[in-house]
Amino acid sequence: MSLEELWQAVLAQVQLTISPANFTTWFKNTSIVSIKDGEAIISTPNSFVKEWLEQKYNKQIFKTLRGLNEEIKNIQFLIQKAETKSPRREFFMPEISQLEFPEFKTDKETNLNPRYTFENFIIGSFNELPSAAGLAVSKSPGAIYNPLFIYGGVGLGKTHLLQAIGNEVIKNFPKKRVKYVSSEKFTSEIVAAIRSHEIENLKNKYRQADVLIIDDIQFLAGKEKTQEEFFHIFNALYDKNKQIILSSDSPPKAIPSLAERLRSRFEGGMIADISLPELETRLAILKNKSQERGIELSEEVLNFIAINVPRNIRELEGALNRLMAYQKIQTQTLGLEMAKSLLKNLIFAPNKIINAKKIIQGVAEFYDLKDRDLLSESRKKEIVRPRQVAMYLIREEMKGSFPFIGRKFGGKDHTTAIHSCRKIAKEVEKNEGLTEEISLIRQRIYSA
Ligand code: ADP
Ligand code: MG
Repeated sequence: MSLEELWQAVLAQVQLTISPANFTTWFKNTSIVSIKDGEAIISTPNSFVKEWLEQKYNKQIFKTLRGLNEEIKNIQFLIQKAETKSPRREFFMPEISQLEFPEFKTDKETNLNPRYTFENFIIGSFNELPSAAGLAVSKSPGAIYNPLFIYGGVGLGKTHLLQAIGNEVIKNFPKKRVKYVSSEKFTSEIVAAIRSHEIENLKNKYRQADVLIIDDIQFLAGKEKTQEEFFHIFNALYDKNKQIILSSDSPPKAIPSLAERLRSRFEGGMIADISLPELETRLAILKNKSQERGIELSEEVLNFIAINVPRNIRELEGALNRLMAYQKIQTQTLGLEMAKSLLKNLIFAPNKIINAKKIIQGVAEFYDLKDRDLLSESRKKEIVRPRQVAMYLIREEMKGSFPFIGRKFGGKDHTTAIHSCRKIAKEVEKNEGLTEEISLIRQRIYSA
């Protein structure tokens, strides 16, 4: 029995004993990498899964493995990121695969990804103003809207637009120095530079930009030192008529603990928001993207997605990717019924009445916890994270205010709610596993 076969056999047994949701969450992208001197090394995609498996499934995995191979005396878990893992067949749900974009390389100087351009950016009334402002800025950086501040919810195209502006500037003015940076990277650079007494060098680097783009500026909230250094960089650039472009999940006045002087700087330029794309635009986006990826879907299926995946563009792409992965291993064209079943857990159910209690219940069940664990004060990791997810979902699904969320969790402070929602929102951006987890929870909540 090969290692892969052995692991498949273990999974087949585990699958019988736990819910499909938990199975997907904790066992997706796991494998056995080696067996040596009686020790089996099991690879997991991230530290969260690793810890969870160690704490909750260690015994079960060990027993099952041992039942199949008596030589095994011990098991160890390690983290192996998806990219470095050897290619391997998906062991279940073949429709869920990694995003399949042609390889694009981020430019080392500008930090821009050439995938994000205006050519593949669809403009509709939902993003008309920021797009027009962005195009104008790319034609004459520093001259009109400065700073340009773009805000909007998750997955609505802020990063795409910011980078498209940067790429367009380079196209129009190849000599201009454009720098794109996420707030997190910016913050960690500042912190490291302060520690190594190189802050002046770092500031000089940024002061040399003709166009400085900082994404997700809301993450500077509460980081006073970073805000202070940024304030100086901002002023230096602004005084030289250099262009500054920022994005955030909310308008400047709604970013908590942002220094007043920064807030007023941000408000001194153009503030434009990206709202939700309406049905027709969603359809246009889907058509465009399916063409781009060379996947042919019927009008009926496209309509179905556009109607039922209304929350943001990232989810539209997620739906397409899922259908695309399925289409690849299939010869006949995809029908509506198949599409429906493949997209089951992405589908939005607006008619269901949802409340905080249902969300808390759904999350607790999903993570094998009690409702009261989530409401407790416990700082245990296996409780903190599900609690954050629950807060995030109340925010997302019910548009609950932060004080409201705090109250629902046994009278916690609104800052705890803010922190939790932001943390999960940030992670969702990068961690597909978490995105999957959350859509499984949604499915559970709405079908309860
Ligand atoms: P945000 O930064 O607001 O969370 P992103 O810019 O990462 O959102 O967008 C999410 C995904 O949707 C990206 O893959 C992006 O290319 C795509 N996207 C967003 N807006 C558009 C648009 N107007 N036209 C085409 N694709 C878009
Ligand atoms: Mg973004």
